[in-house]
Amino acid sequence: MINTVNRRLEAELQESTGEKVRLCYQCKKCSAGCPVAFAMDLLPHEVMKMVQYGQERRLLQCSTIWLCSSCETCSTRCPNDIDIAGVMDGLREMSLEAVYSSDAERALETARLALGDGRRITVSDRIRELSLGEWEGRLIDDLHAEDPAKLDAWYRTPSTVNLKGGEDLAAFRRRVVSFMDEIIATPGGDAALITHGGVICIYLTHLLRMHVDDLWSFSLPNASITTIVLDFKPRLRSFGETAHLDASALGLDGMPAPL
Ligand code: SF4
Ligand code: SF4
Repeated sequence: MINTVNRRLEAELQESTGEKVRLCYQCKKCSAGCPVAFAMDLLPHEVMKMVQYGQERRLLQCSTIWLCSSCETCSTRCPNDIDIAGVMDGLREMSLEAVYSSDAERALETARLALGDGRRITVSDRIRELSLGEWEGRLIDDLHAEDPAKLDAWYRTPSTVNLKGGEDLAAFRRRVVSFMDEIIATPGGDAALITHGGVICIYLTHLLRMHVDDLWSFSLPNASITTIVLDFKPRLRSFGETAHLDASALGLDGMPAPL
């Protein structure tokens, strides 16, 4: 049997990034220097190989392209001057059908940092963080000093705490779930949502059939990646991944940077 290799992916990447992936001869120097390799499901040299073989579906669904921190260590090590970091950028761009962001400036800034300025982003206040009303912008220490019992109740059974001007937890979950339901019903490929910890956690209470009071059962790092697979039903694939952030604390050869 003779199989033909699908060259479309390689050609499209070359057009969008200018990189000639076919020059890769699998020396693996890129993977050997990648500080995030330990967390990737495909190593950088494997990504290059799969681009050459046109394995589009597998590549666009892999976690590697999202864990890559664009540190460019691989690009500087490549003997063929392939900008592997640029190829990762190109694959990220191709993998997303749509990008949504909360209208909060910090979320929009994160979206621009993660995806570049050219990407079309749909901005919505429906994935804005939970409004804390009278507590908005205040320090935890001050709230504790003011009313420790109220703060304790907020952590244990938040739905029982009435915050003046704040959002009801059940209403918060309804707005987030209705937004997600619309995305799920929209035909197309993968979507990225740049949003807030409370939004992700309240959606997970819905997904995992938990009570709204279980909102704080999750500890979600800032700027982390949570992946939900939408096929026969929404399923949690990964939670709070931060390997793309940890790379900045590592040395160029993947060893911890000196303190
Ligand atoms: S840019 Fe950095 S994190 Fe991304 S694949 Fe290359 S070495 Fe790894
Ligand atoms: S360093 Fe360059 S040539 Fe070597 S495997 Fe990586 S991309 Fe290919």
